[in-house]
Parts: sequence; C-alpha cells; structure tokens
Amino acid sequence: IDTGGIEQENNNQKSFKSFETNWIVKNIGLGLKEADLILFVVDGKEGLNPLDKTIFKWIKIKFSNKPIILLVNKADDRNNEVYSLEFYELGLENIIQVSALHNLGFADLLNTIIEHIKPTDETKKNKKISLNIDETDIKFALVGKPNVGKSSILNQILGEERVLVSDIPGTTRDAIDTFIEKDEIKFTIIDTAGIKKNSKKKDFDFISIAATEEAIKRSDISLLVMDATTGVNHQDLRIAGMIKEYNRASIIVINKWDLIENREEYVKKFLDDRKKLFPFLLHSPVIFVSAKTKIRIHKIFDIVKDVYKEYTKRIPDIEISNLFRECYSKKYPPRGKKKYPIVILGGKQLETKPPLFYVKLNKDGELHTSYKRYLENNIREKYGFVGTPVKIIWRGE
Ligand code: GDP
Repeated sequence: IDTGGIEQENNNQKSFKSFETNWIVKNIGLGLKEADLILFVVDGKEGLNPLDKTIFKWIKIKFSNKPIILLVNKADDRNNEVYSLEFYELGLENIIQVSALHNLGFADLLNTIIEHIKPTDETKKNKKISLNIDETDIKFALVGKPNVGKSSILNQILGEERVLVSDIPGTTRDAIDTFIEKDEIKFTIIDTAGIKKNSKKKDFDFISIAATEEAIKRSDISLLVMDATTGVNHQDLRIAGMIKEYNRASIIVINKWDLIENREEYVKKFLDDRKKLFPFLLHSPVIFVSAKTKIRIHKIFDIVKDVYKEYTKRIPDIEISNLFRECYSKKYPPRGKKKYPIVILGGKQLETKPPLFYVKLNKDGELHTSYKRYLENNIREKYGFVGTPVKIIWRGE
C-alpha cells in the first residue's frame, strides 16, 4: 500500500495533536491499519529532520504492534553507514540502506520483509477462501478521452463511500488509485482522470494514452466512459481497442445522460453504432448515467460486481465437454483443406480472468475462426459471461 507523501507544508503546525488530525495523515493511517509491516522511508542525504520524528512518534503510538523497517533512501554508497547514523536515535533495530535511484539494497530489503511477515494461521485461512468474491479485491479502471466526466463520476462514487487511502492529487503519478470498501468488498479504483489537469493539454496525447493503457492493464474491469453529447469518435475506439487487446472485462458508461432529450432513439442509435464500430465489445453491459444529477451512479458498483463474477466464473469440465459435443452434433466444423472430417472430442475451461476454453480435436484437426465464434456464441447463450471476453483455443490430438 503506497501512501501519499506527508508534505512539509502540511506540517507547519506546532503540536502533535494537529499533526494527528491532518486529513492526509488520517488517510495514511487507514492504509497503515491494513498493513502487516510498515516501511518507514527517510532521506539519507538530508538526515533526520523534525518531521521524521513526528511521523515516527505517531506510528509508534498508533501501530505499536506492527513491525517497522526503517528504509534509508538515497544511500548511493551502500557500504558507507554514514547515511544511517542520525537515524539510530529513533531506536529501531531494522535499518536498511537503499538507493532507489541506483537500484541498490533491494535484495536485502526483500529478505528482511520476508523475515517479518511469516504467514499466520489466519492469513492461510484467508487465502483459502480468497476465491470467494466477498474476500476479493476488485480492481476497476475509469478510462475515456478527456472531458467525458471521469473525475465527476469518481467524485460521485467516492462521495458516498468510505475512502481507505487515496493518493494526493497533483502528484506525478500517471494513474491514481483509490481503495474503498463497500458491502465488505474491497475495491481498487484506478483512475486516469488527473492526467489532463497535470499535463494541461486538451489532446489525448502520448502521455494520456500510455497512462490509459497502464490503467487498463492493471485492472480486472475497465469502465469505458463516453460522453453522450459527442457520440463515438476515434479516441473512444482507440481505448475500446486497448481493452480488447488486453482481454479485460469491460462496462460501457455513457455519461451526461441529463443532457439527452430523445433517450429512446439515442439508445437505439448507440447500440447500432457499437455493432458497426466496435463489435468486439458487444458483450459489455451499457449503462447510461449522469454524474451531474447522479442518475444511476449507484448502479455502477452492482454492475462491476456482476461483471467480476462473470470474469472469474468457472464452468465444470463435464458441462463444457457436453456443450461442445452438442454444438458439434448440430453443426460440423468446416473441413477447409483437410482430407478428413474434423471431430470435436471434448473440451474444458482452462482459465478465468478472462475465461479461456480448450477444444480437443481429432488428429491434425484445425478450428476455423467462424466455428470458434459459433462455440463462443453457444457458451454465452448458456452461461452468459456478460462483460468479459471469452477466449477459445484448440488442439488436434
Ligand atoms: P474528465 O476529463 O473525464 O475527468 O471529465 P470531468 O469530470 O473533468 O468533466 C468534464 C466536464 O463535463 C466538466 O465541466 C463537468 O462539469 C462536466 N460533466 C461531467 N459529468 C457531467 C454530467 O453527467 N452532466 C453534465 N451536464 N455535465 C457533466
């Protein structure tokens, strides 16, 4: 858990009390509460400063039961202990000198971390049930071209929920992560909304594209936010393409619904456009919202939960085998250039996130793309898999 930095300017206050009540510090506290181990990072070039002492005192009081490793950064000459000298007065046993710039000391650090976080019976138990959705951390990203309303939607979502930790706006991070807990499910929201404001550019430039790609890659589900008033353009399609490329689950969020008058006609036209322009996201649910008037904003979480269930769903082997054979008996795969008929011998689901199916064929068999699509349609008809790509591979035994 990476907490936002505690800035000097936020800590001009004299008393420890005002330090504790600072909202950033409070937010960091929520993050530390979740942690098994605390890495307290200090600047080895600058030495011990009063703010370090205040932070350390606060950690000791609030989290007395958690192991702490003091990480002395900027120790560019690792063998020289001079960087750590001033920090001995904190009385910590675990002090590791590192240099993030030169990538030094991290093997030591990892070893020390491992020594301090032996799995307890409790964590082992949690691991076992971690496939249960209630225990899972669902990561979703808000992506879309500038000005479609990503930040407005995020603000509306967060307005109602308990925020565990949020990065501080204005930092140089490309994507901002926010952790929230709702109905006992932990969500990570990966948000690229801040980019526009940082780079002061209206264009969907190189940086935004890279950040969008990164956000999609790190998410389970990508929420593709579009502006109802502008229609679908090449930028929307580019992002849709990235979602497909990374095989992520997705939900299409059409924002600014308050500004649309003829809604019925709009929905029809949008669904039509989707079929023509990005048919590869036909499986994605579409939700029409307004961040301004809050129409259906609260529904977003329900849809995210539903899609996550589909993205992680596993169908028993026997059912898939039966389904594939049934498909086979209704329609034979095209033979193509092969001399012998292609026979489907069985199949099963190999993976989730996204669901991946394997089709077992007779010797030298080969499955045409159109037949894969036929199988996919049958899988979807029977099992849904709403919002998630379905991948199919085959092998001739
Ligand atoms: P972002 O660049 O995608 O993060 O977009 P913003 O959240 O900054 O919103 C861009 C502009 O659209 C702002 O002026 C918002 O006030 C406006 N906006 C956002 N959501 C809505 C909405 O649902 N309805 C209307 N009418 N305006 C909205």
